[in-house]
Amino acid sequence: MMYSANELQSLAQLTPPVLTAYVDTKPRQRSSRGDALAYMPWLKKEAKILTKTENVRPGDLGTYGAQVARVEEFLRDRTPREKGLLILAGSDTWELVPLERQVENELHWGRPALGQLFWILSENKPYCIVVVDRTGARFFRHSLGEMAQSGKMKFTINISQWKKKEMGHVTGQSVKKTRGSQRDTHRHRMDAQYARLCRDVEERAKSLCEKNRCTAIFLVGSDRLTKAIEAEFPKQFGRPIVTIEEDFGKFSPSDLQKRLEPRIADWENRRQLALVYALLGDERKAVVGLDETLVLFQKGKIRNLVVAHNLNESLRQCSECDWMDRSSDPVCPQCGRERFVIIHLRDVLPELAWKTQTDVEVVAGEAAMKLNESGGIGGWLRGRTRVELR
Ligand SMILES: [Zn+2]
Repeated sequence: MMYSANELQSLAQLTPPVLTAYVDTKPRQRSSRGDALAYMPWLKKEAKILTKTENVRPGDLGTYGAQVARVEEFLRDRTPREKGLLILAGSDTWELVPLERQVENELHWGRPALGQLFWILSENKPYCIVVVDRTGARFFRHSLGEMAQSGKMKFTINISQWKKKEMGHVTGQSVKKTRGSQRDTHRHRMDAQYARLCRDVEERAKSLCEKNRCTAIFLVGSDRLTKAIEAEFPKQFGRPIVTIEEDFGKFSPSDLQKRLEPRIADWENRRQLALVYALLGDERKAVVGLDETLVLFQKGKIRNLVVAHNLNESLRQCSECDWMDRSSDPVCPQCGRERFVIIHLRDVLPELAWKTQTDVEVVAGEAAMKLNESGGIGGWLRGRTRVELR
C-alpha cells in the first residue's frame, strides 16, 4: 500500500479518539529468538505511560485499553515483512500502513497522530520510472523504498530495423540510386510508427505521473529512445523529466531498483540543493529563518515551505487560538491568554500545512546542511513580496 501526502488527509479525518502506533518492525529486531518482537515490551510500557498523562482521560480508559489490547494481539501473532508499521485503531477504525522506511516507535491517543508519516512521505517523494528498450516499455512507481510495476507495453514494430536503415546511408551510391525511393517510403513508414510508439509511451507515463502525483519522471533506455520520448511531453507538463542512458530493459524489478536508486538519490540531492540555493538567493519573494517564517506560515502567507529534515524545534502554543512561536513569554501575543503547552514543530506542521494550503518540501543531506545555516526553514510567499508584507 502506498500513501501520498494528500491521501494522508483522509487519515486525519478519522473520528477520534484513536490509538496511533508507529512500530519499528525491521528485520534486525528479529535476528534472534530473544530479540523477536522487541516492540512488544515497548508497547506495553508506553501504553502504561500514556494512561498516566493527561492524554487519556479517565472516561476514555475503557476504550483505550480495548484498542491497546487489539494492537497487541495483532502484533503478537504476526511476522512482519516491512520495516515499519503505522496502526490507527479506534472504535470504528482499523487502518494499517506498512512502510518500507525505518520508523521510530511512537504511541499516541486522541486525534490521529500523522506527524511522523507526513515527514516520511515528504522526505520520500514518489517518482515515475519508465524503462524502455527496443522490445517495449515498463512503467514503475517508486515510492518509500518500493518499486511497483504499474504497466507494460510491448512494441509491435522492430526498432532495431529502424536503427539499421539509418546506417544504410553508408552503402554505395549505385545501390542508393536504384533503391532510393523504395527506401524512403520504408523510412517514412518506420518513422511514423516510431513516433507513434514514443507518443504512446509518453501518454501512459504522463497519466501515471498525474494519477500518482509523482515528483519527477525518469526515462531509462538508449539515448535515442529516451530523447524521442522526452520530446513528446508537452511544455506545460510541469515536472522534471530525467533521462538515464542505460540499457536496463532485461533487468528484473529488484535489479532495476538496485541500479536506479543511487542515480535517483543523486539527482534528488542536486535538486534539493538547487532549491535551497534558490530560496536563499530570493530576496524579494522568499523568507528564511524560523521566527519570521513561522509567523507568515501561520498567517497563511507562505505558498511553498522548505524545511530541513532534522528541524524539530520546541515551541510554545496557545491552547485558545493555537498560535505558536519560540518565545518563552507565557502570554499569547495573538489573544493575550496564558499559554503553557510545549509542542514540537514536527508534530504540528502537517495540520497547519493542510489548513493553510501550504506545500511542504522536506530536504535532507547537503541541502539540509545549507538550509540549517539559515535556521533550517524558509518559504516562498504567496503573491506578494517581502516589502509589501511589512
Ligand atoms: Zn492565543
